[in-house]
Amino acid sequence: MDQILEINDQNLTVTCQVGINGANIERDLNEKGYTMGHIPQSVRTSTIAGYIAMKAAGQFSGKYGKFEDIVLSLRAVLPTGEVIQSKNYPRSSTGPQFDRLLIGSEGTLGIVTEATMKIWSLPEKQGLVSYTFAKIQDALEAIRLIYRHQVNPAVIRIYDHVETARHFSAEKKAGGRAMVIFVCEGPTDVVDLEVQVTNQYCTQCNGIACGEEPVHHWFETRFDVKESSKYTPLDVVFDTVEMAAMWDHAYDMYESVIGEMRKVPGCLVASGHASHFYTQGVCWYFTFGGAPEIQDQFPEFHQAMWDAAMRGCLQAQGTISHHHGIGIIRSKWMEKEWTGPDMEMARRIKKVLDPNNIMNPGKLYGADFDYSPENAP
Ligand SMILES: Cc1cc2nc3c(=O)[nH]c(=O)nc-3n(C[C@H](O)[C@H](O)[C@H](O)COP(=O)(O)OP(=O)(O)OC[C@H]3O[C@@H](n4cnc5c(N)ncnc54)[C@H](O)[C@@H]3O)c2cc1C
Repeated sequence: MDQILEINDQNLTVTCQVGINGANIERDLNEKGYTMGHIPQSVRTSTIAGYIAMKAAGQFSGKYGKFEDIVLSLRAVLPTGEVIQSKNYPRSSTGPQFDRLLIGSEGTLGIVTEATMKIWSLPEKQGLVSYTFAKIQDALEAIRLIYRHQVNPAVIRIYDHVETARHFSAEKKAGGRAMVIFVCEGPTDVVDLEVQVTNQYCTQCNGIACGEEPVHHWFETRFDVKESSKYTPLDVVFDTVEMAAMWDHAYDMYESVIGEMRKVPGCLVASGHASHFYTQGVCWYFTFGGAPEIQDQFPEFHQAMWDAAMRGCLQAQGTISHHHGIGIIRSKWMEKEWTGPDMEMARRIKKVLDPNNIMNPGKLYGADFDYSPENAP
């Protein structure tokens, strides 16, 4: 389940068995002069199957897209044993595309076995840019304007002042401010233009240029996740939550989620960075840490922090997940996310495709959704 089956240079596609590790397929593509451009922080420990099932988003997704943009076709075994295989087209208008149901289905509708993805030639040049801002609202505005100018740097990250202090303490111009890093990549002339537009709007929005060094630091540390595990033996719970909002609620979401999390008894730290951007809005990625006030109530504290984040998100009219999916912990919030008949429709589709409820029961369709075979249609 981990083999590359074909690289098609004319179509710029790769077809593989989906058990292949993300770092391995990217390494093999790089050796041949290509990239898929999908580099999540978990790239060394995750698979193409997981990216499809979770609608994953890589660090360079501003340029290469999220996984639903990258995957062209797939082969899957349905719970009934039937096999579907979609075809490769640049686009097709032949009714609703059935295979798309599997993308983001979190393993509840079938097992994906093979897929074809888009690839690109390796970039000619990278442009590295960083700025700090006194107000995170100014950083958001600079990026909104860059996107409005139709420039999409591959990587953009805005760190709030708490995360800036945590990750960029060596940068003298960063004290008490929000650090923003950019990576533009592609053909030289395109990158030069993107860097020029990026500088223009950051300066216009009161940013202070910090050069390439903070971006080099980001490259060196971007897969480092051991910081949070240091605290587990000290009985401190750490976790991260991602969500998204339109631009007119982008800052509200930051305030609302951090505010709700800080109200939970035992919360020691709540911070955020914005990790993915669109012409229409932004993905926030929040980190929390704390310890339950009542001894040993770790699961209760963890759930309370998640519930606070979900509450804050919905108050700011956001979506409760941007790229990690729903799983079990967010499942009870799905009926607030999908209002109207959406949830019931999704449950009906699940019952038709998986009449015996054998695929990841309890996930995605609401906390109380479960059905026994005798009640199935
Ligand atoms: C430290 C860390 C950093 C992360 N960074 C990112 C990031 O930058 N971007 C991002 O998007 N995510 C990130 N994630 C989340 C996670 O790595 C991704 O969601 C990834 O896509 C999951 O892939 P996996 O192979 O690990 O899948 P798993 O965790 O093994 O499975 C995920 C789900 O997919 C289902 N599934 C697995 N295989 C199949 C299959 N063949 N057919 C159908 N369903 C299947 C499983 O049942 C499960 O529900 C991160 C996670 C961690 C721990």
